[in-house]
Amino acid sequence: MKLYNTLAGEAQEFVSADGKSVKMYVCGVTPYSSTHVGHALSYVAFDVLRRYLEFLGYQVKHVQNFTDVDDKIIQRAREQGISADDLAGRYIEDFYATMDALNIQRAHVYPRATQEIGPILETIANLVDNGYAYPAAGDVYFRVTSSKDYGKLSHRTLDGMQAGARIDVDENKEHPMDFALWKGARPGEPFWDSPWGPGRPGWHIECTSMSMTYLGDMLDIHGGGQDLVFPHHENEIAQSEAATGAQPFVRYWVHNGLLQLGEDKMSKSLGNLVSVEEALVQYSAESLRLYFLSSHYRSPLQYTNEGCAAMERSAERLRHALRPTPDAPGDAEELDPGPFQRRFLEAMDDDLNTPRALASLFDLAREINRARDAGHNMAAAQTSLRHLGGILGLAFNERNGEGQGHLSAKPFIEILLATREKLREVKQYDLADQIRDGLVEQGVTLEDSATGTHWHYRDSA
Ligand code: ZN
Repeated sequence: MKLYNTLAGEAQEFVSADGKSVKMYVCGVTPYSSTHVGHALSYVAFDVLRRYLEFLGYQVKHVQNFTDVDDKIIQRAREQGISADDLAGRYIEDFYATMDALNIQRAHVYPRATQEIGPILETIANLVDNGYAYPAAGDVYFRVTSSKDYGKLSHRTLDGMQAGARIDVDENKEHPMDFALWKGARPGEPFWDSPWGPGRPGWHIECTSMSMTYLGDMLDIHGGGQDLVFPHHENEIAQSEAATGAQPFVRYWVHNGLLQLGEDKMSKSLGNLVSVEEALVQYSAESLRLYFLSSHYRSPLQYTNEGCAAMERSAERLRHALRPTPDAPGDAEELDPGPFQRRFLEAMDDDLNTPRALASLFDLAREINRARDAGHNMAAAQTSLRHLGGILGLAFNERNGEGQGHLSAKPFIEILLATREKLREVKQYDLADQIRDGLVEQGVTLEDSATGTHWHYRDSA
């Protein structure tokens, strides 16, 4: 399998260090607001990478952090009159629920920075002792000039960075590009004691320390959005390689393209976010996933209602191909999924080309529907479609609310149906019909029978 490595600037054949297991670290969220669709795109991309590596036979260990102490968390908590820890805890729960709703496999370990202060302090002390970092007025800074190849990930030089950036003068720093490993506490902020005074860790050192704690000195894959290449990942390399002396810190740096709304990157600071919860009111989890995968993971993607709505119909086409049909006669012609499977795997081997992989699945689905009409045997083809879809994390749930976690419409539909039943008992037929008509308008079909009312989503195909 070829995988694009940002460090090398090209797609490379993927081989893990031991050929059997894969150590994968993915940068996690700063939990101070609801998980948005931009996060969802990134974590779906790494979910598919992990599922494909597992399909190839690798044992993947996936670690993903929470940056659970940060200026924005502190500020938001202060506004709400709660502790930073409570605020982070609340949005971490939101994050887990959202990942489950999107059928994103959970990481094996989710370290929280605030619970890893001891090892983080050890890493900083190691860097200070070896001349890679220095304390200054309660802070500790990394000395970028001590790293011979600083800039190798983002393919820049220190001189180039300084020329291109407006640099704030900070008299505590030896060099303007030096960055904080430890930030001295300001009044009213959460803090931990350290040899350099009370304070909290900087963002970059958290990821260096947590990845080393849970995965060791060298990782096979380190992932995140393209906006993390500089400075976050550049700084992680500098710190980690200085701390351990082991090179490379990461064999493959994998970065996803960013989700855009209109012309802009979707970001909290621009205030143009769509939360996953909002998106799931309109679209199924499966259609969101299909929409993300319809674009290559390294390309930017525009979040549009038309795009998501079109995927609702695509998801239905796939589900339709998987619906059971009467057994074909024993001598029926059999649909061979082999060619579709080969195209799928070739596409995935080519730096996870999911748009091409999906195209082969849609072709297979179309052939299955044709074979069904012709009375052919398509059992093997259906098994293959389900299996290949599983590699992309597609569950093919029928749209009756399964697989959508707490965001499902199912319980609300059932409340409406129970109310309609009560209204019919007391002969309030007008109101009962109003509920039925409203549901039908929302795409829910009702069937009254002797055993009660059954409902399902109307096929959108
Ligand atoms: Zn990180």
